[in-house]
Amino acid sequence: MKKKHPLIAAVLLTALAIMACGNHRKQADQAATTAAAEAQDTVTPPTFCADSAYRYVREQVDFGPRVPNTQAHRDCGDYLIGKLRQFGATVQVQEADLVAYDNTILKARNIIGSYQPENRRRVLLCAHWDSRPYADAERNKKRQREPILGANDGASGVGVLLELARLIQQRQPAIGIDIIFFDAEDYGMPTFHRGQYKPDTWCLGSQYWGRVPHTQGYNARYGILLDMVGGRGATFYRELFSQRTAPAQVKKIWDTAARLGFQDFFPQADGTEVTDDHIYVYNLTRIPCVDIINYDPQGDTGFGDFWHTHDDNMDIIDRATLNAVGTTVATVIYNEK
Ligand SMILES: [Zn+2]
Repeated sequence: MKKKHPLIAAVLLTALAIMACGNHRKQADQAATTAAAEAQDTVTPPTFCADSAYRYVREQVDFGPRVPNTQAHRDCGDYLIGKLRQFGATVQVQEADLVAYDNTILKARNIIGSYQPENRRRVLLCAHWDSRPYADAERNKKRQREPILGANDGASGVGVLLELARLIQQRQPAIGIDIIFFDAEDYGMPTFHRGQYKPDTWCLGSQYWGRVPHTQGYNARYGILLDMVGGRGATFYRELFSQRTAPAQVKKIWDTAARLGFQDFFPQADGTEVTDDHIYVYNLTRIPCVDIINYDPQGDTGFGDFWHTHDDNMDIIDRATLNAVGTTVATVIYNEK
């Protein structure tokens, strides 16, 4: 677990974060964004504050690894429910006993925050909130069976969505929004497992939700999944399953990022296909869902050197990346009619 800041330092940091998102910068930012928006005839969303997104990432990581059946996991789940309520969402919690690859029963919770639940025009935003119980990509083999902090792989997507929840509370977009924090995404069969291969051991929370949505007959125009959206120097190439099943939404998101000046984060190029929650969302509900996920075409794993190792901690989290993703997604949802 990452050492907590002493109380005074934490209060100071919070004060600094609030100041950093204060009026001065906000006005300058808004003037620039407003000019760009008018030129394009688009709606400008409330300003995404990367400092608060960063704080929500850190607050999750401070619980320690969020592995199902642990106290840190229960405590962090309660924290997420509290934050969504604080930001004015109608919260539903789906509890389920899910069976892991090794037959462990995982006490899982999918946490859902809805805005304008009566509105039939909806968009789904999601991320997984659990973190991986193993560091099976760690070079130090002795530490491969220890759980990881998952600052990027897990906490970053949730941190961006919590900041979006705060914006939605400030000003509602024209459409209803459902924010879903899926559980038990990252409990998939580890590379060191010697038993027989089993399919579908990842994404257990979204598989459950896909079969039993939180409201009967749930529908949304499309979904956006955020996974590993806080790493320094991250690149989000077009993920191929999304490209095949949600091409119009992929185009909209990548074009929006380019218009906002985030083309270095969102290259107009194809990446690879990734096993992630969006596949089960689409296969089980037919809601097209776009995965915005860090992809590194040069790296060994494709996800960056930190992936499923103990390097996935707060040191690799960068506000600039959180801001690029958060501002892009905010602009997309505030421009839905
Ligand atoms: Zn993972």
